[in-house]
Amino acid sequence: MASAPTPRIAGPVDLHMHSNHSDGTESPAEVMRQAHAHGVRTAALTDHDRTTGWDEAAGAAAALGMTLIPGMELSAKHEWRSVHVLGYLFDPLDAALRAETDRIRGDRIGRAERIVRNIGRDYDLLWEHVVEQTTLDATVGRPHIADALIARGIVRDRTEAFDGILHPREGYYEPHYAPDPLTAVRLITRAGGVAIIAHPVTSGRDRMMPVAFIERLIAAGLGGFEIDHRENTAGGKRMLREIAAAHDLIVTGSSDYHGSGKPNLPGENTTSEEMAARLVDRATGTAPRFP
Ligand code: AMP
Ligand code: FE
Ligand code: FE
Ligand code: ZN
Repeated sequence: MASAPTPRIAGPVDLHMHSNHSDGTESPAEVMRQAHAHGVRTAALTDHDRTTGWDEAAGAAAALGMTLIPGMELSAKHEWRSVHVLGYLFDPLDAALRAETDRIRGDRIGRAERIVRNIGRDYDLLWEHVVEQTTLDATVGRPHIADALIARGIVRDRTEAFDGILHPREGYYEPHYAPDPLTAVRLITRAGGVAIIAHPVTSGRDRMMPVAFIERLIAAGLGGFEIDHRENTAGGKRMLREIAAAHDLIVTGSSDYHGSGKPNLPGENTTSEEMAARLVDRATGTAPRFP
């Protein structure tokens, strides 16, 4: 029997959004409502290191007549660089991937406590203030520490916290465990997903992975790059487009919406319907949730 054809991916497509299951400020259903209100018709929920928001997002997307592409933003690290690898449509029950996200999320807690202890030497901040800012066992990160600093009246918003106290140059920062990007790409790919490097060229060439290493990621199964993202530099985007064309990779554009935690708005950058369809066709781990 012939299988039913895949329904069309409707645009505009926004493939990178966060809920309060990580460091966004809204529930997964509210993220879908905000995406819809901004005109988005296919949206991905990509919480950091976590997939627990998928079901709620799928229910809300169905009610709105939208398509949900389930995803995740996996924390990785190349040398000193934090590298975020977006994974789409992988099997959320894959044992190896789950073991890795459990390890990252577990280590993030001790790391956040260490940062808070460091800050507490100079400011009136305790770990319990950060716990008050996290719900639902959220993947804890510096944004939650920022929210505690806001609640204590120490900074005005997350931007001020990241530009100041939370910036590594201030001396309070601590790293957390994260896998090598090669491991991240392999884990997502082996779980039937498509791996896309998030915001790969954010601030100057030294922050970008060397091209030779990116070519190793491509050989390991990398699906493509998130190119249209507000933090990528113009020169970096041009270079990535050339690499993507040379290797016939998928290129995406996304908002990286975090609710009120960042100025980014749903649909401010989008992915073409053609590229989104390629991504869907390539994945084998989970089906998109069509309305
Ligand atoms: P962490 O993974 O705990 O080191 O924190 C990094 C997270 O903080 C990323 O997921 C970003 O979404 C968020 N972030 C980074 N810079 C800012 C900023 N200037 N304002 C708000 N959130 C930020
Ligand atoms: Fe984030
Ligand atoms: Fe990111
Ligand atoms: Zn993100």
